Amino acid sequence: MVGSVMNTTNTDFHRKKVVFIMGSTGTGKSRLSVDLAGHIPAEIINSDKMQVYNGGLDILTNKIPESERNGVTHHLISEFDPNSDFTVSDFCFHALKAIDKIVRSDRVPIIVGGSNSFIEALVEDPHFKFKAKYESCFLWLDVSVPILNSFVSKRVDHMVHAGLVDEVRALLIPGSDSDCTRGIHRAIGVPELDEYFKAEAKLTDKTTKEKLLREAIEKIKDNTRKLVLTQLKKIQRLRYEKGWAIHRVDATPVFQRGGKDAGRAWEEFVAKPSLAIANDFLLKLNENYVM
Ligand code: ATP
Repeated sequence: MVGSVMNTTNTDFHRKKVVFIMGSTGTGKSRLSVDLAGHIPAEIINSDKMQVYNGGLDILTNKIPESERNGVTHHLISEFDPNSDFTVSDFCFHALKAIDKIVRSDRVPIIVGGSNSFIEALVEDPHFKFKAKYESCFLWLDVSVPILNSFVSKRVDHMVHAGLVDEVRALLIPGSDSDCTRGIHRAIGVPELDEYFKAEAKLTDKTTKEKLLREAIEKIKDNTRKLVLTQLKKIQRLRYEKGWAIHRVDATPVFQRGGKDAGRAWEEFVAKPSLAIANDFLLKLNENYVM
């Protein structure tokens, strides 16, 4: 049975404890982080390189809305200038600052997001001495690729219904040569729609415009499916080649079921096992613990 760590404080440990939630886009990482924070005294640090930016694109980058955060404090989300490049070093610097603040308030930092290069640098770059200061638990929310592909494709359609095209249009200055290599402009959806807006401006025929828009949306789906695969490969590399002790949690049944059954499957296959792993980790005395 899952125990409770609500009365255990992070300062009880010699090396402080940090939980990571990894996984490809669309697997449910944000939901899991908030669920865990309902049972563990925790704050969340975003590690998605596109969600760090403010100034729009909340639909496109799929940021967790305030209403779904359950009052849990989120760090490094919507905080930085969308025209600046938020680098790996920026992430490490700001994440370490947030981690330090969270553990000082006797809470557990939960780092959540799909940018594995950020996570790898934070944990392994000797400059940050992360391993000397912190003990980590890695949860990997995995979903069968064909099922996830179909989900993320439908998610793009939902984003379009929710106003994705206008959201990106508002970001790009009309008539200007937008630099799709910088900041938030690199997010999947921006270069594809930028190309469409440029072509659209030269057209009068409605049917051709609609056709081009459909093609741009297909490209967004295609690039999102590619992202699913590259993110998966990066996690597999960390686990199988670098030997990171990553706990795999299979969320596939949640996606295979609909309605109430999906909610039950989430509890059974994702929420409970993840909480059990996190609790084990948090309750275990640190290897370097000094009595
Ligand atoms: P890399 O070093 O290859 O950039 P990474 O692990 O640091 O990989 P990922 O999160 O896999 O970063 O992002 C790779 C690319 O995928 C981003 O540069 C961006 O184009 C796109 N991308 C990632 N996350 C999002 C998102 N939430 N919304 C839109 N596009 C995204």
